[in-house]
Amino acid sequence: MSRVLVIGCGGVASVAIHKICQVSDVFTDLCIASRTVSKCDVLAEELKGNTKTNITTAKVDADNTDEVIALINKFKPDVVLNVALPYQDLTIMDACLACKVPYVDTANYECEDTDNPEWRKVYEERCKRLGFTAYFDYSWQWAYREKYKEAGITGLLGTGFDPGVTSVFTAYAQKHYFDEIHTIDILDCNGGDHGYPFATNFNPEINLREVSAPGSYWEDGHWVEIPPMSIKREYDFEGVGMKDMYLLHHEEIEALAANIPHVKRIRFFMTFGQSYLTHMKCLENVGMLRTDPVEFNGQQIVPIQFLKALLPDPASLGPRTVGKTNIGCIFTGIKDGKERKIYIYNVCDHQECYREVGSQAISYTTGVPAMIGTMLVAKGIWNKPGVFTTDEFDPDPYMDALNKYGLPWKVDENPVLVD
Ligand code: NDP
Repeated sequence: MSRVLVIGCGGVASVAIHKICQVSDVFTDLCIASRTVSKCDVLAEELKGNTKTNITTAKVDADNTDEVIALINKFKPDVVLNVALPYQDLTIMDACLACKVPYVDTANYECEDTDNPEWRKVYEERCKRLGFTAYFDYSWQWAYREKYKEAGITGLLGTGFDPGVTSVFTAYAQKHYFDEIHTIDILDCNGGDHGYPFATNFNPEINLREVSAPGSYWEDGHWVEIPPMSIKREYDFEGVGMKDMYLLHHEEIEALAANIPHVKRIRFFMTFGQSYLTHMKCLENVGMLRTDPVEFNGQQIVPIQFLKALLPDPASLGPRTVGKTNIGCIFTGIKDGKERKIYIYNVCDHQECYREVGSQAISYTTGVPAMIGTMLVAKGIWNKPGVFTTDEFDPDPYMDALNKYGLPWKVDENPVLVD
């Protein structure tokens, strides 16, 4: 019997909201709030009549903490799910803190304007101290730990698939399969084809910032940074087949390195086709991935934002994407004195997702875990004052919910390892 406020109404939000409406016994009341309220109204109309959840909509600029506070005071949610953009993480966290309401998101804070001097100072100091240069890291949100603890509210960070499910898989492996986990390879394979020469599967700006950044991995207690896309491996994925994959920096590595004892190496690989990489390199070379404003015809424009306006909306890819995703983690380590290796993974079919909720599998594999994390917080099953990632709670109820709500997982006890 909970009231949930969802902020954002894009590709991921749409799936999370469909799933929330499938669990009306938990989520009795839902407010969909976003910058463009007409999108919320369209989705609410589509869902009304098919769910017992009472749905309302609202307009909110989540960059403005006072607006979010006013909305929270009006709707009085038991939990807030932020599926807007990482740029809004801190303003929404501040609003939740002011109103003492639990906070949930799917991606860690990133500053929209990378020229902002206040942010840049902290960023440059962090690059030197930690040794990786991606624009996102947990420090901004971990800084709320004490404040959330004192306020007696839970902040659950990064409950998408990766991060999110991959960290739950790690907690599950640690609890049931290993005494010590020594290596973790997170593999994110999208074998889907949308038929466009170039499109991204989630917000283009966030996606291109992520994949064009230098890669990095955790080894022997420190970060190793490498030029973008400079470590390539091939892997044969169930449901997809042989794919090229590249080592990227990814946010869950930071949390797992801090939280998993004995771990010696953590890497993240994502599959890309040659055409995607060639397009991205070309866009980067001509300056279209720049995140700072440039003068154009007497007006300031940010190239990556202009590019977003030209690319297909990821939320529109559902009807045309075919194929499967295979995302999971390969663990090696020790159990009862013997070496052990396992792969925990999910295979998801783009068209099955589309038939169920009208979205492609990347939005689905993020939106379903967003609902599950929010549900566990709302039911008080994951309830700890402070700010935590998904590996810091009991994984079992989350793993059960993945099976129940559309992302069944498997354990392969003899996987091929990545060299
Ligand atoms: P979209 O661009 O499709 O949707 C973003 C939504 O947020 C839009 O509805 C947008 O409104 C809204 N929004 C943006 N700015 C504001 C604002 N200031 N105030 C209110 N609403 C705002 O993004 P996605 O759905 O693809 O991604 C959503 C989140 O999910 C991102 O944080 C992304 O990083 C994360 N993600 C996480 C993954 C994981 O596995 N952990 C994987 C994929 C994504 P408008 O319609 O007006 O633009």
